[in-house]
Amino acid sequence: MTTKIGFLGLGHMGAPMAANLVAAGHDVLAFDPVPEARENARAAGATAVDTAAEAAVDRDVVITMLPKGKLVLDVYAELLPAAAPGTLFIDCSTIDVADAKTAAARAVTAGHRALDAPVSGGVTGATAGTLTFMVGGAAADFAAAHKILSVMGGKVVHCGDVGVGQAAKICNNMLLGISMIGLSEALVLGERLGLSHQSFFDVVSTASGQSWALTSYCPVPGPVPNSPANNDYQPGFATALMSKDLTLAANALRANGIDGQLGELAAAIYERFNNTDAGRDFSAIITDIRQRGEGTE
Ligand code: NAD
Repeated sequence: MTTKIGFLGLGHMGAPMAANLVAAGHDVLAFDPVPEARENARAAGATAVDTAAEAAVDRDVVITMLPKGKLVLDVYAELLPAAAPGTLFIDCSTIDVADAKTAAARAVTAGHRALDAPVSGGVTGATAGTLTFMVGGAAADFAAAHKILSVMGGKVVHCGDVGVGQAAKICNNMLLGISMIGLSEALVLGERLGLSHQSFFDVVSTASGQSWALTSYCPVPGPVPNSPANNDYQPGFATALMSKDLTLAANALRANGIDGQLGELAAAIYERFNNTDAGRDFSAIITDIRQRGEGTE
């Protein structure tokens, strides 16, 4: 059955996600303020509209894929009055838990339904339709969204109430950021002590220091041939995005009174790296650690 969808935010992630919905036979009204993005959506078979509000008119579902929480709230102010009562709003952006809750509460107050559904899997997953969706909201709304999210994703997980999808996303990425820094420090220490990258990998990949960062995303060339380290740290997952997610996690640590020292430190380390290397893959943090320690014995 064709679902009438409004899609806002046709960037690196949103463009392929919207294209997959069109390819699955859904009726997609697409909006992005960038004319080229609207043109690309048109070429992919969506109907591009000229304002955000138009994308919400007579839709079953409205999906947003935007860079920041404030932007989601601003766009919702245009969308909510334009949508028919009971429209299901799904925000797939990665934003602050508090902003996600506010956006959902405003949608419900306006007579609609709302889910937060941030993703992991990057542009590759968005293009292939294999994203993981971490969904927060009522069970009935999750059930209603499942078919649409499955078009864009390989795994769709109901994490809990509104905001808990965002919680899953920032908890995972905080752990990944911390783990990549720890792994990189260990690799650089091994280098100094005469341990080759391959020997490090052969031991640690099956020992207690094992991690996804090592076995699937190794930050040095060689042991995992398709990791960004083998391609001059082209992302992958850009440092700018890791820095953004760690900042959201650090804010959440503070807002919830948690003594999250490593989360705070990881956010600070990536913020500093982001000032010079925003466009490189986040695993390039190892080059920073190596350089900063050079000359000291
Ligand atoms: P992007 O900057 O490429 O795209 C964002 C798009 O939103 C842009 O095209 C921009 O013009 C558009 N936009 C701005 N204002 C708008 C408005 N008022 N109405 C409609 N569209 C508007 O960002 P992206 O990489 O696609 O990321 C989108 C979200 O997904 C972010 O929250 C990001 O953190 C998250 N995310 C990204 C990745 C990734 O690998 N890129 C992975 C997981 C999650």
